Amino acid sequence: MLEIWIPVLITLFGLAVGSFLNVCIYRIPRTDVSIHSPRRSFCPECSNPISAYDNIPILSYLILRGKCRQCRATISVLYPLVELATAGLFLGMYYHFGLTLEFLLALAFIGLLLPIAVIDAQHYIIPNVLIATGLVLGFVIVCGIAYQRADVWYLLTRLIGTVAGGMVLWLVAVIGSAILRKKAMGGGDIKLMALNGLFLGAWPELAMVIAFSALSGAVVGTVLIISGVKSRQSPIPYGPFLAGAAVLVLLWGDRLWRMYLQFVGWN
Ligand SMILES: [Zn+2]
Repeated sequence: MLEIWIPVLITLFGLAVGSFLNVCIYRIPRTDVSIHSPRRSFCPECSNPISAYDNIPILSYLILRGKCRQCRATISVLYPLVELATAGLFLGMYYHFGLTLEFLLALAFIGLLLPIAVIDAQHYIIPNVLIATGLVLGFVIVCGIAYQRADVWYLLTRLIGTVAGGMVLWLVAVIGSAILRKKAMGGGDIKLMALNGLFLGAWPELAMVIAFSALSGAVVGTVLIISGVKSRQSPIPYGPFLAGAAVLVLLWGDRLWRMYLQFVGWN
């Protein structure tokens, strides 16, 4: 009986977390507001506080038809999308990992990657507070998993991954900048890659993250330039691609790596 309710509870939990992530996404890059003040959510257009019944994930957006009750300003579709993505990814992680510490690690990772990706796409920054939170949270849960498995090597690979992730992307940034003769990557991307190393491990996970993010970044960048959305000179944030690749590796890294080894004839 309980088994039916677990996915429902995780979905509701994901929607609630997604709603909180929306607050983070709006407030962290802005200096005039903080996470806890003002306490109530407000309409960015008319600054009126949003009442609790208008602040239910997804549902309120549908009932209000995407408009503020007070000033009728359009509410960004990003809000329900972030809530849906959080709930969907949480549920996906549950079916993948079950109720384990690895599941907890995945939830923390998703809760950080989503705001990092959206804030980088909107503001071209990856806030240090998210990286720092991730490093602390990730380290604690990784220690817990290593303890549970009685496996020091697990902890060690994650620490190696943290250092290697930062160093490898720093090298890519230096070489890329030299070849392209412009800044190829920001400091935020380097820190995000260190976070990826902590949550995913070093080899082959980090290599896959670099391959998938570079590939998807190149495809999307080309499409944006051809369609005229971006010019050749305008910067395209790399954070969303690093985050997307990290989720892919988190869920299917093992399988994709085995497929690759088979493909090149190593196995
Ligand atoms: Zn309003």
